[in-house]
Formats: sequence, structure tokens, C-alpha cells
Amino acid sequence: MSWLKRERKSIKKPEKPRADLPEGLWTKCENCGEALFQTVLEENLWTCPKCDYHFRVPARVYLGILTDPHSFSERDAALEAGDPLGFRDARMSYPDRLKTAQKDTGMKDGLLAGNATIGGKPVSVAVMDFFFMGGSMGSVVGEKVARSIERAIAERRALVIVSATGGARMQEGILSLMQMAKTSALLARLQAERLPFVSVLADPSMAGVLASFASLGDVIIAEPRALVGFAGARVIRQTIGQDLPKGFQRAEFVLEKGFVDRVVHRKRMREEVGHLLEFFWRSTRGFAPEDRPSPHAFPAAHPAADGTPAADSVKR
Ligand SMILES: [Zn+2]
Repeated sequence: MSWLKRERKSIKKPEKPRADLPEGLWTKCENCGEALFQTVLEENLWTCPKCDYHFRVPARVYLGILTDPHSFSERDAALEAGDPLGFRDARMSYPDRLKTAQKDTGMKDGLLAGNATIGGKPVSVAVMDFFFMGGSMGSVVGEKVARSIERAIAERRALVIVSATGGARMQEGILSLMQMAKTSALLARLQAERLPFVSVLADPSMAGVLASFASLGDVIIAEPRALVGFAGARVIRQTIGQDLPKGFQRAEFVLEKGFVDRVVHRKRMREEVGHLLEFFWRSTRGFAPEDRPSPHAFPAAHPAADGTPAADSVKR
């Protein structure tokens, strides 16, 4: 018997990498092949009207979908990555790689952060951009997430983060991995401050990001069919030498396993997050600290869902 003889049929080829956000008048759905008119696709928030396939969208587009109209104001827009390791991949140096990504996306790095409202509730929001170096988390993405958490605490806002990422950025090595600990530690502070965190997982939400802040939400929502996992399916398949179950690491699969709380269509995302924030808003009397009133306009006679006045309205 040859050492190199293949006992099993070859493992399935990995999925083709998906194209960037489509341009031009017509776009072919990457799932069902339907030719879609650009304006129809836009009206459908970049989901296929025929099969509900969710196209990947840039961070700025997602912010428009998720936050209340004209409510977003950006913070920490000027942060840019250094090149701490003098890293060079097979084709170019890290600074050149950054410059190319900046030119292609109009972003400084892979995440937009700022303040906004969702369903009228004050949020500190951060949205990752998969088109910027695969949405990878380096020092800038990690720092912006960290500052978003700190801002949520300082200004008593809910935290909402949308992940769209392949994981940590290899070009910054250990400095990328350190962002996992930094963001997770700050989320513990957010929890101690009784402030809610809603984590939204877009396609894909993988590796070091999922293994840190993305999986630490009080509520974790995934978009339909979003890839959610730590190691990629190919690596797992090769390691265990077995084929994986159908739909492995897709949103619906991890929902069934209890890893995410809901799978929500993009068209309903703002409404759904708004509902959740409403629940947290009422149960914390307007995101108030334990022993002090809310810094926001939280009506004293805020009625509970059943119409009875809230308990705190009696106290004040
Ligand atoms: Zn389709």
C-alpha cells in the first residue's frame, strides 16, 4: 500500500470567493443566479428578492440600514495602523497593502464607529467592513471597538457591533491577537455598568473576532446563512478527516446549536434591534446606572408594556 494512496474521495472544493459589492445595472445573485436590477437590489437592502441571499455590504451601507436616518455621527475616524512588525507578505509590504485597501474602500481601516440612535435609543455603534482586508481585526479595529465600549459606558449608551470579518489581521501578529483580550475585558466593564450589548453577525463572522467580542453579546443576532465559526470548515475537515454536516457553521446551524439567539433578515434588522433596545431601555430605566437617574430623557411616567406606570415613576 502506498503511503500516498488516497483512501477517501477528495474533499469538496472550498466555495469560490465572492465578488466585491457588485456594480453596474444588473447583478447576478450569487446564490440562485437570478439577474437583479441594481435599484431593486438596493431597495431590498442588498438581499435577493427571489431567494433572500444576503449580499455583503460595506460598513457605511450597513450603518444606513441599521441606524435611524441621519442619526450617525462618526468617532475616531482618523485612526490609522502602523507597521509594528515591518511585515511583508508574498506580494507587498503591509503599508502598501493598507494603502491599496484604503484606495479601494475609501476607509482608513476595517471598521466605522460612532454614536447613533436605533429605534430612538442612544447607541454606541461599530460596524466592520469585510471589503477592507477581509474585515480583519488589527490594532485599529480593536482600538475602535474598545473606544466604542468606553463611549457606551461614559455616555450611558447601548452597544451595538456588526461583525463582518475573517478574524485577526496576520500582518500585525500578536498585536492583533491582543485586541481579543482588550475588547473582552472592556465588555466585562460594560456588563458591570448594566449596559446592553447587541452583537450582530453578518457574513462571515469568524476566528479571533468571534472568539472575542462578537460572541459576548447579551443578545447575538445573525443574518441568514452568515458563516459563523472559529476555524474554517476546510481546516476542520482536514484535521478530523471527516465530512461536516450540511449547513455547518451557517447561521441557521449555529442557531440550532444555541450559539446565536436569532437569525434575522436584514430588512427587519433595525426593527429587531430596536425592539431589543426597547426592552433593555425599560428594564434599566433608560440605561440608568444602578443608583442614579438616566442621563437621557426617560419619561418619569414611562408606561410599562401592559399600560401600568413604571415603578420608578412613583419614586420620583
Ligand atoms: Zn437569489
